[in-house]
Amino acid sequence: MLKATTIHQQYEQARKDNIRVLIVGAGVAGITAAQMLRRDGRHPVLIERNKDEGHPGYMLALMPMVDQALEDLGVREHYRQNSIPLGRYGFHAHTGRMLRVDSMSSILNRFGDYRGIARGKLIETLTSAGCHVSFNTTVTGLSESSTGTTVTFETGGESYQFEFDLVIIADGIHSSTRDLVLDGSTVDVVDTNWGGWVVWAPEDTNMDLGEELWGAGFFLGVYPVKGELGVFLGGPRADTKVGPTSFVADVRRKLTTTSPRLESTLKAITRETEPYYWSLKDCRAPTWAIGRTVLLGDAAAGFLPTAGIGAGMAMESAWVLTRILRHAQRDTVVSLLQAYEKAQRPRVEAAQNTSRRLAGLMFHRSGTLAALRDVMMRIVSIETAIKPIQKLLANQPNPDRVAKDALKRI
Ligand SMILES: Cc1cc2nc3c(=O)[nH]c(=O)nc-3n(C[C@H](O)[C@H](O)[C@H](O)COP(=O)(O)OP(=O)(O)OC[C@H]3O[C@@H](n4cnc5c(N)ncnc54)[C@H](O)[C@@H]3O)c2cc1C
Repeated sequence: MLKATTIHQQYEQARKDNIRVLIVGAGVAGITAAQMLRRDGRHPVLIERNKDEGHPGYMLALMPMVDQALEDLGVREHYRQNSIPLGRYGFHAHTGRMLRVDSMSSILNRFGDYRGIARGKLIETLTSAGCHVSFNTTVTGLSESSTGTTVTFETGGESYQFEFDLVIIADGIHSSTRDLVLDGSTVDVVDTNWGGWVVWAPEDTNMDLGEELWGAGFFLGVYPVKGELGVFLGGPRADTKVGPTSFVADVRRKLTTTSPRLESTLKAITRETEPYYWSLKDCRAPTWAIGRTVLLGDAAAGFLPTAGIGAGMAMESAWVLTRILRHAQRDTVVSLLQAYEKAQRPRVEAAQNTSRRLAGLMFHRSGTLAALRDVMMRIVSIETAIKPIQKLLANQPNPDRVAKDALKRI
């Protein structure tokens, strides 16, 4: 549970720690990092721009790289209760016909869990021990000196300054705090020029089955979570401007085969009065560790949804960072942040490259290309498509070794 607390109350605790830590953004990465540090006996200050914990809920399929964080937080069982196993992946031809169903369990179970969970339920799980946060608070200035980083906060129309030894920027893909430490133009962005709507549909009898339909000029994904189906329907942004009802009518015209699930999900999109619209762009910061400040999660590398791995990597990164910080003292923070970036950035960017490559395959308007892709997908399984992700899962990060090696070099 998120517990609203004033920034003064949080700082009163934080300033007694050997490292005074600020975390900006109470999302998946920020909360994971805060709760990990708190389990280790530290008192990071966690701030969030939103006025309360209300957040557009959406579906997350989480790969096994989240397991270590959940284990260390002691919430793995809570997570299992709030989520469902995603045992199968179904792939439809561009005309709607189901082309193949692959077993995800046989690919991923050897690495750990692959489960579907609503974002709100994940936050509930991560904060089940209680999680102090100052809502309605943002950072407007960061100034580093030899004694620490002076941070200027804006909260409820008031401005305050406090000093920290470490600032973790985890305010998501559109991070504005990142702009205070980086020149915004240096952030690399891939814009697919596609976007679409995210809605919920009623559960059905195939709740272990995630499905995707890579169409000609549209994409439909159906991802089960406990008690509901998360649905994404998208297309070129220029084409989705007509609105969900007309766009769905267009999709229906392109389908020669349908199924009760496809029908029910398309209906869910037209039923929603103002469905959440998601523009499919990613971002990649050129550097993560800047003095006593570090970028984490989507603020460091925001993902396209194509490999379904952004939250997984954000949680893994939060786990690696905070495990490295177990070894930190005030005077070793800067070196350990650099060691963290050196170890974790190649992993995250490798996963992001997979998402970018898949986007190149998925997002096309042409019917001919879509037909060729169907032929290819009949032969190539999902196992081949996510080979690079399996490689990451097989080579787990070792934060303790990273920290020890870095400290030896100081
Ligand atoms: C519809 C959808 C489906 C997705 N599906 C999957 C999936 O199946 N699997 C998967 O692994 N990933 C998925 N992702 C990606 C995943 O949600 C993100 O990668 C993940 O949430 C990143 O975590 P984060 O903490 O970095 O950012 P976020 O979770 O976005 O959290 C950022 C937080 O910072 C706050 N904030 C923003 N600006 C400020 C500020 N200036 N000051 C203070 N706070 C601020 C925000 O309000 C938010 O609470 C999906 C994303 C979307 C949108």
